[in-house]
Amino acid sequence: MTVSLVGAGPGDPDLLTMKAARLLTEAEIVVHDALVGEGVLGLIPEHVGRIDVGKRVGKPLPQEMISALLVELGRQGQRVVRLKGGDPFVFGRGGEEAIALHEAGVAYEVVPGITASVAGPAAAGVPVTHRGVSAGFTVVTGHRRPGEPDVDWRSLAKVGTTIVVLMGVTHRGAIADELIAGGLDADTPVASVRFATTDEEYVVRCDLSDLGRADIESPATIVVGAVAAFDLRSVAPLVATA
Ligand code: SAH
Repeated sequence: MTVSLVGAGPGDPDLLTMKAARLLTEAEIVVHDALVGEGVLGLIPEHVGRIDVGKRVGKPLPQEMISALLVELGRQGQRVVRLKGGDPFVFGRGGEEAIALHEAGVAYEVVPGITASVAGPAAAGVPVTHRGVSAGFTVVTGHRRPGEPDVDWRSLAKVGTTIVVLMGVTHRGAIADELIAGGLDADTPVASVRFATTDEEYVVRCDLSDLGRADIESPATIVVGAVAAFDLRSVAPLVATA
């Protein structure tokens, strides 16, 4: 395979798939995003080339340039790992890169990763579904301001599933207003997890009506719904063993 579009998971290197870990050791060059954690990057052998196309570091590389770079490296026949946080096809723009590679006739594969939309809530002890409480979960981007196209928040409020918002920190107050306007109770539980599964992991809990004021910074996954009141993080055994 020439180019592998690989999910790096939420941060903890132990949450990489075995295939992702193997591909990192076999790669000739790794093209990665800003959201890929240091722990995962630390698994890339010294001799392997690295290109950081991170959108957070310095000037962002436009998506077309990233796609063009992958095509170029692929045409050279290099073994390329395109490493993305979480899963490549969940807001990772992996689809666009796959299309560019396909159109250029460059062989590629997709290696799924554990997405923050599931690992984030889990890190806070929140099950995204729970029998009798939540029959599903909807993953949406909060990147666009409510009112702009993409997500109809008021309708989403009526679906009844857990709502998992990625990239929603900036517009969290407006999102909460729209969800409440759509019918969700103001006291609907919310859990937010920043840097899930890393040393910097940070969980904030609040009611939906307080979300706009809550002390939350990017990158965070925000979970809205009754399950957000759960905290099922592992606890010490009730009976100490001798
Ligand atoms: N492809 C990624 C998502 C990319 S969008 C995936 O499947 O996980 C980037 C957004 O994902 C961030 O703004 C944040 O909302 C969320 N995110 C990614 N990594 C995270 C982490 N370690 N902890 C909490 N949220 C995270």
